[in-house]
Order: sequence, then C-alpha cells, then structure tokens
Amino acid sequence: MFRFLTALALCLPVTAQAEQLKVATSFTILADMARNVAGDLAQVNSITPPGADIHNYQPTPGDIIGIADADVILVNGMNLDLWAQRFLARIGDVPVATLSDGVTPVSIQGGDYDGLPNPHAWMALDSAQIYVDNIATALAGVDPDNADAYRANALRYKQQIADTIGPLRDRARALPPERRWLVSSEGAFSYLARDFGLQELFLWPINSDGQGTPQQVRRLIDNIRQAKAPVIFSESTVSDRPARRIAQETGADYGGVLYVDSLSAADGPVPTYLDLLRVTSETIVTGLDHD
Ligand SMILES: [Zn+2]
Repeated sequence: MFRFLTALALCLPVTAQAEQLKVATSFTILADMARNVAGDLAQVNSITPPGADIHNYQPTPGDIIGIADADVILVNGMNLDLWAQRFLARIGDVPVATLSDGVTPVSIQGGDYDGLPNPHAWMALDSAQIYVDNIATALAGVDPDNADAYRANALRYKQQIADTIGPLRDRARALPPERRWLVSSEGAFSYLARDFGLQELFLWPINSDGQGTPQQVRRLIDNIRQAKAPVIFSESTVSDRPARRIAQETGADYGGVLYVDSLSAADGPVPTYLDLLRVTSETIVTGLDHD
C-alpha cells in the first residue's frame, strides 16, 4: 500500500502543497494542537474522526491512506493509543513522537488498569504546555529549517492555553470546599481535578473498562451520598444514561456534557482544543458554583 501511494504521488504534478510537512496524529485533540504549532507549514491529519472512542479504536484500511506519507506521527502515549502504534508499524520507518513525555503521571484508580498512568494528561495547564513543547521539538526534528517558527508558535499557543484555563482554575479553587467534587462517567479528569483543587468520583476508571455496570452504579451512588457531591457530569463520547439515573437517585444535579477525549465536528460546540478546555472547565465551574 505504501509503495503504491508513493508511486501515485510521484505521478502527480508538483504543487506548493507537496512542499508542506505532513503530520499525522492519533486523535483530534493532538491534531488541533499540532495545527497551532505548525501554522501553515504543515498539513495535519488525525487518524480517528471526531467523537471516536480513542481508547479502543479499530483502525480501518482506509485510515492508512491519509497518513501513509506522513513525515512524523504524534501520539499521546501512556498506553492510550497503543492501537495507533501497532497500526503505524505497518507504514514503515516514520518518526513517532510521544507528546506526554515529561509529564508527571497521575495513576488510574481501580479497575483492570489500576496503578498505570492515567493518559488524559492534556486536560491540565502545565501538562498541556509540555505537549505543546514536545510538538514543537518533533516538528523541528523533521523540519529544522523552520524550527524558530515552530518555537514561536508554541510560545504563543501556550500563552493562549494559560489565558483560557487560568481564570476558570482560579474560580474552581475559590469554590466552597464542600462543593469541590468532580463526578464524571470516566475517570478522565485526574489532571484537571488536581489543577482545579477538586476531588474526583467516577463510574468507571477508564473507557477501556466496563461502562456503567450495576456494581459501578451502586458504588457511585453510595460515594455521592457519603461525599454529598452536588453535581454529576458525563462525557460526550459515552452514554449519559447512567449519570442521569444516578442524579435522579441521589438528588445530585445533572451538570451536562464534558468534552475530554475528542473534539466535535467543525460546526459543533468544541471544534478546537481551546474550545474543549473552555467549555469543559466552564461547565464544571458553573455547575458547581451554585446551590
Ligand atoms: Zn478517555
């Protein structure tokens, strides 16, 4: 397949487009971050589409077409996108950069993956900035002529991330202690909770585990009652039915949809990573910030 596509590319007329760096990422959030660091110097594609389950994604033969001629591939690491690394081995010797390298991991609590690093490290200010620096280093590694541009873009983007999340983090930290609970479906917010000074409760530790089993529901109901946690949220990539049922059962408010594993389509509520950070953080803080 790779040879066929290379041969095909050689037959096409040379255009300015062909000069652009080609970057592939395992999911939409990393693709948007990479676009911000690359500017118009690269064409960036995500293997998974918006809304996909990034933990258990099954790549299709068609997926390889968009990334077969990539110059560099960006993955999350921390076992999240092992499927991508297996799949990418098929396209040959392309450099792969792991964007969570250098992040201090938070462990998964409970379930089949107890104790392993929680992979959702893009959901906190300091670790997001490490991702951005790793992207700039990866792009500069394959395109050293434009290293300065990548570094300048990364610096600006890191400031935008700080401006987006900083004020919401301050509001979260100022909440009354008894309302500082983040209850979700997946335990995907350990980094955000650490940043915002919130305690976490969730239905299942990670989307690779069973989702919404009767035992998980019963345990969360008990924990919400004990903690008097005021609000339960659920994430855009999973069913909200267990969360709504638990809200009814416990008297907690249902706080709405959080975005964590995937951007929306371009015309949806979170087409960019900055939108995702802002909408998710605002939904959490607004949900917790009233009686
Ligand atoms: Zn997840």
